[in-house]
Amino acid sequence: MLRKFLAYYKPHRRLFWLDFGSAVVSGLLELSFPLAITLFIDHLLPMGDWSLTIAAAIGLLAVYAFNTMLMGIVIYWGHMLGIEIETEMRARAFSHLTRLSWRWYDRARTGKLVARVTRDLEEIGEVAHHGPEDLFIAVMTFVGALVLMVMLHPTLALVTAGIVPLTVWLVVVYGTRMTNTWRQIYARVGNFNVRLEEAIGGIRVVQAFANEAHEERLFEKDNRAYRATKLDAYRIMALSSAIHYMGLRFVQVVVMVAGAGFVLQGSLTTGGFVGFLLLVGVFFRPLEKIAAVIETYPRGIAGFRRYLELLETEAEIADAPDAIPAPVLKGNVVFEDVSFGYDSTRPVLRGISLEVKAGETVAFVGPSGAGKTTLLALVPRFYEPDGGRISIDGLPLDAMTLDSLRGQIGIVSQDVFLFGTTLRENIAYGRLGASDDEIMAAAAKAQLGPLIAGLPEGLDTLVGERGVMLSGGQKQRVAIARAFLKNPPILILDEATSALDRETEREIQAALEALSAGRTTLVIAHRLGTIRNADRIVVMEDGQLREAGDHHGLISQGGLYARLAS
Ligand code: ADP
Ligand code: MG
Repeated sequence: MLRKFLAYYKPHRRLFWLDFGSAVVSGLLELSFPLAITLFIDHLLPMGDWSLTIAAAIGLLAVYAFNTMLMGIVIYWGHMLGIEIETEMRARAFSHLTRLSWRWYDRARTGKLVARVTRDLEEIGEVAHHGPEDLFIAVMTFVGALVLMVMLHPTLALVTAGIVPLTVWLVVVYGTRMTNTWRQIYARVGNFNVRLEEAIGGIRVVQAFANEAHEERLFEKDNRAYRATKLDAYRIMALSSAIHYMGLRFVQVVVMVAGAGFVLQGSLTTGGFVGFLLLVGVFFRPLEKIAAVIETYPRGIAGFRRYLELLETEAEIADAPDAIPAPVLKGNVVFEDVSFGYDSTRPVLRGISLEVKAGETVAFVGPSGAGKTTLLALVPRFYEPDGGRISIDGLPLDAMTLDSLRGQIGIVSQDVFLFGTTLRENIAYGRLGASDDEIMAAAAKAQLGPLIAGLPEGLDTLVGERGVMLSGGQKQRVAIARAFLKNPPILILDEATSALDRETEREIQAALEALSAGRTTLVIAHRLGTIRNADRIVVMEDGQLREAGDHHGLISQGGLYARLAS
């Protein structure tokens, strides 16, 4: 896992070394300042040469200024390193998410996914910056300070080092506890997001059932759990910073008393005494960093693990290595003994065989749950059949690239998803980059002309989140306009008008018939009246094909269709 993580540094090698080098030099300077003070007090002051003293002071200031710059570099470019890596990871996560298959999304929860792409990656970015630098520098200053203390006064160094292990141990113990708490906070934030997503996303349902109080209670539960965990974290944080502070002060006082003794005894100079006290501070500072690393590192690791998990989730349906871009299809769709189930326990489609000729309109009817939608979802390869095969113009679906296959299938279904942007952008979704003229032509064919003409802002009108500002019939027309713009040889209409009133249905029916002219059309209809003119009607029940024929033939057969029609 570490190797995979390090791979992300590779493109930013120069940034890394700039950051790391600055941090190392800055750490060394920090170590040298106490020594400089010692020299200043012990050797320069006794000389009584003020101009030399002032020169030395100016020199010291210059070095401080240089160190300030180095610290600036570490803060700015170091974080830039983190942000670069975070951005790269976020782009990959998003790109991967857009390619995962329907079956995966059937089980996913949006709120958690959103948390992954936002929070998780932010944590990783922090660690990407602080992890290597802080840990290395912390250990370096810690050891360096110890060595210098020994050089100044071995006995006093021994006294100091004797008290330190206890502090280190406490810091580590609290660091780990902190880690576990953070992991919980994480999970809680995920729950939170899911709850928010669903309550806000479904706000209209919530209010329609007057269930605001119920949602509030559910939310309150998550909110409380989050609060409790967060409080735990802060309690631990308070304790550990108290321990750290008290530890430092305790050591300082001990060093002060012992050091004063050594000064009186003559084994330590005044300058050495002051330098030593300053070194104690330098010696303790890395502990804070080590604790910080201990605290953030596991969060980053946990985030990175989830990130990897996501990236390593393979899209169930993807281009086969030898897939070719499909030629312009005529639309001869053949199902051969196709079977399918959403899970292994229950077959949803069984032994479906059917040939749809290029340009033909075939209607699928049958009771709800018969598997009609499922069958047609196999054509654009939203799901993969468990058995049998589907081909178009003699090409098996998986011989073609997904883009080229889906690019030639138009879909208009019962629930239309509109993006919260303008009418123009929503229609142009059918073919990105279409010109205004093309968009207007498609809109006209979908009978959107009068609507657009009546809007003060025309195509620039915002449709509201998910298109809430449009009526059902208007949304359907946008979907039809998209399909006109796409101009595919194959068309799937899944209960496109079922949610509409009869009047609107009749209006839209005309647009749909215009749309399906000259294309292979697979249409699922709830109301049989809308498919009388289909070339062929296929009746499905319980995942199987039961009857096929034209309206009159099926009626005279007196089977399932005749019963559905009566
Ligand atoms: P129809 O369109 O004929 O009404 P569907 O194809 O939508 O029927 O559904 C067929 C069966 O598959 C139903 O029993 C339904 O519960 C089930 N089903 C549909 N979609 C899913 C899904 N995404 N995951 C699991 N089961 C599903
Ligand atoms: Mg259906």
